[in-house]
Amino acid sequence: MSSPPAAAPLRLRLDGEALASNWRWLNDRSGDAACGAAIKANGYGLGARQVMERLAAAGCRDFFVATWAEALALAPLPDGVSLSVLHGVRAEDMLAALSGFARPVLNTPEQIARWREAGGGLCDVMIDTGINRLGLDWRQDCAALTQGMAIHTLMSHLACADEDHALNAMQQDRFTDVAQGMKADRLSLANSAGICLGEGYHFGLTRPGLALYGGIPRAEAEETIRQVVFPQAQILQRRTIRAGDTAGYSATFTAGQDVEAAILNLGYADGYLRGFSGRGAAMADGLRLPVIGRVSMDLLIVDVSARPDLVEGDWVDIDYDLRTASAQSGLSHYELLTGLGARYDRAWT
Ligand SMILES: *Cc1c(COP(=O)(O)O)cnc(C)c1O
Repeated sequence: MSSPPAAAPLRLRLDGEALASNWRWLNDRSGDAACGAAIKANGYGLGARQVMERLAAAGCRDFFVATWAEALALAPLPDGVSLSVLHGVRAEDMLAALSGFARPVLNTPEQIARWREAGGGLCDVMIDTGINRLGLDWRQDCAALTQGMAIHTLMSHLACADEDHALNAMQQDRFTDVAQGMKADRLSLANSAGICLGEGYHFGLTRPGLALYGGIPRAEAEETIRQVVFPQAQILQRRTIRAGDTAGYSATFTAGQDVEAAILNLGYADGYLRGFSGRGAAMADGLRLPVIGRVSMDLLIVDVSARPDLVEGDWVDIDYDLRTASAQSGLSHYELLTGLGARYDRAWT
C-alpha cells in the first residue's frame, strides 16, 4: 500500500475572498450585463474547478474554457451554471459536444455545417470584428450562415481593450451592426479590459478572465483589483556563500563578502522564469530577500542575511505582486499566472 503523498515543498496560497471580491467588482462595473468568467488554461493556473465553484457561489453563471478536454474535466457542473467552449467543434470533439453539458462557440462555416448536420441544437457563435483570430469574418453574411440556428450567446473579442486604440470603437460598431441582423438570446463583447471601457461595450454578458485572478487590465482597475495568488516555497538548505565564491549556474553571482543564503524549492519549471534571476525576491515578514544568481529549473537561491532566524524547513513568500513581478521578469500578468505549474499544492484560504 502506498502512503498518501507528502505536502509539496512549494504551494500557492489562493485568496478565495479576493477572487470573489474581484468578480463582484467586475460584475458591478458590467452594469446591467451579466458577468461571466473565463476559466481556460486551468483557471489561469489557479485550478479551474475551484475557481468555478467559488465564482458560482458568488453568483457567476457563465463560464468559458478553450477546449473540450478542459470542459470534460469540469463535468458535472454546479447547478444552474453554463459552460461554453471557445475553440468550437472539430470532428474529434463532436462526441463530447453532443452530450450537451457545454455549448460550442462556433467559429467557422465548417463548424457551423458540422453542428447543423449533427442536429446539435443550442450553440454560441463568435464573430471576428478585427482581431483576425477565431470567428466568422464580420464582412461575411453571418446572418445567412447561421439562419435558423438556435444561438444562445453571440460574441466577439476585442484586440486592444487594454489600450486606448481606435480599433475598440470600430469593433464595437461592427459587432453592433452584425448583431442587428441576427437572432441570439444574448450578446457579449468585453473581456476584463473591455469592462473598463464603459457601458457601450457591455452588451448582455461580459467575459473577464485576467482581472478575476488579480491581473490589472487597465488603470481603471488598479485601485480595486486584489492579488489572489501568493506563491510560497520551502527552504531546503541554508548555507554561507564565502566571500569570493560564486553561486548558481554560470557563476553569475560572486559574493563580495560572506552571504547567508537559502535554497528554495522553486524554479523555472514552476513558472518562475529566468527573467527573475538577480531581480526577483522572496519576502519574510516584510523583509525583502533578493534572488541571487540564476533561477534553476527546480531551485532558487535567495539572500537571507537579513533573517538569521530562518532555517531549513521554513517557508517564505515569493514577491508576486503582478505589477512588480512583471517589471522584474518582462512577463505579462497573463504569463505570470498561466505559467504556474502542476507541482504546487494549491491551498485556498
Ligand atoms: C481569454 C478570453 C477572455 C478573457 O480575457 P481576459 O483578457 O483574460 O479578461 C474573454 N473572451 C475570450 C474569447 C477569450 O479568449
